[in-house]
Amino acid sequence: MVKKNGWDYKGERNWRTRVIYTTNMSTTYAAGRLAQLKDPELQKVAPFWMYRHGGSSDPRPQHVKWDRLVLRANDPWWQTHYPPNGWGCRCTIQILTERARGLDVPNRIGTAVDDPVDLDADLVVGADGLNSLVRSAFETQFKPTMDYFDNRFAWFGATVPFDTLTQTFIETEFGPMNAHHYRFAPDRSTFIVECEDATFRKAGFDGLGEEASAERCSALFADVLNGTKLVTNKSMWRRFPKLWCENWVAGKHVLLGDAVHTAHFSIGSGTRLALEDAIALVHALAEHPSLEQALQAYQQQRPPIARKIVDAANTSATWYETFGEKMGLAPMDFAHDYLMRSGRMTEEKLRQIAPQFAADHAAHRAMAD
Ligand SMILES: Cc1cc2nc3c(=O)[nH]c(=O)nc-3n(C[C@H](O)[C@H](O)[C@H](O)COP(=O)(O)OP(=O)(O)OC[C@H]3O[C@@H](n4cnc5c(N)ncnc54)[C@H](O)[C@@H]3O)c2cc1C
Repeated sequence: MVKKNGWDYKGERNWRTRVIYTTNMSTTYAAGRLAQLKDPELQKVAPFWMYRHGGSSDPRPQHVKWDRLVLRANDPWWQTHYPPNGWGCRCTIQILTERARGLDVPNRIGTAVDDPVDLDADLVVGADGLNSLVRSAFETQFKPTMDYFDNRFAWFGATVPFDTLTQTFIETEFGPMNAHHYRFAPDRSTFIVECEDATFRKAGFDGLGEEASAERCSALFADVLNGTKLVTNKSMWRRFPKLWCENWVAGKHVLLGDAVHTAHFSIGSGTRLALEDAIALVHALAEHPSLEQALQAYQQQRPPIARKIVDAANTSATWYETFGEKMGLAPMDFAHDYLMRSGRMTEEKLRQIAPQFAADHAAHRAMAD
């Protein structure tokens, strides 16, 4: 049949038929398995999947790149990448809960820890966010300092799918206001409204509940929202915290992410920092023979790196504290000032990243001076 169809063999007899047969079999099996795994009850107890490369001696570079990628079980990526991915692909997925079970690690997903002091473990990782219980239980060792920026912000959702991360600055009857907005799903965007404390009070936001605030902000930003209403989800007005811990390790307790530092959302790096902290901790554990040495290495190596990003975030957040004053600048100067706000951008870097903007701004400055 192979010959009849004008095909040729590369390998031994039946090679082609075998590839077709095994691929069809594994695709059929995978489709059934995926349907099983998509059961919402199962996803609650096995929420994370890891892509594993099949170990082929002649691997496809993309498959190698996906090796060890961990995503939520309900991430749309799996719809198009659940293995096998093409002829002869032997990649698999690993359900992280099953892997942990294989290593004798008990899973207690969805269980709140109410006392980290008595946890029976060799290592306790406090990745429990801004209000970390692990941090507060060992506060004297971690030595945190917590302060707040003056500006007020409320975190809403929008049903407008914005194309790019956009900053909208507007003058209102209450004072200058800003929205940071960007898409996070095909039909949904994040919409963070920020203003100075004086504007917050003048607009009466301090006396408004979540829904009334959303209504007022929807009206103020009606142009950019195309008249749609903002969506609330614990969208209370807050001030952004400035947290930093002097120590990241206290005995067998270690902190990472928002539990140990915060980075203002205007540089969009809080999640990246948390993940990089975790990666640094994993590397330290893998590279050192004892837990004590590993934690010492984490304490020595990771904070100075994170501090650079945190400093840039703090500088960026400080820019927003007086954005109203800057709105009086010419648009080109305002945009330039905004791009330089974190202190990590230089004129040289700007020329490389955005040559057209840098040239336009230079021309604008030459005309203005
Ligand atoms: C308005 C706003 C916008 C932001 N935008 C961005 C952005 O665009 N990009 C970006 O990278 N970052 C952004 N961030 C920052 C980002 O959200 C955080 O830096 C990041 O979520 C920190 O991750 P984490 O895992 O350390 O903490 P969290 O995401 O807070 O996770 C902590 C987890 O611990 C759990 N937990 C807490 N206590 C307990 C307990 N006692 N027992 C069991 N579990 C517990 C919580 O349920 C939670 O799941 C933004 C922050 C804000 C406020």
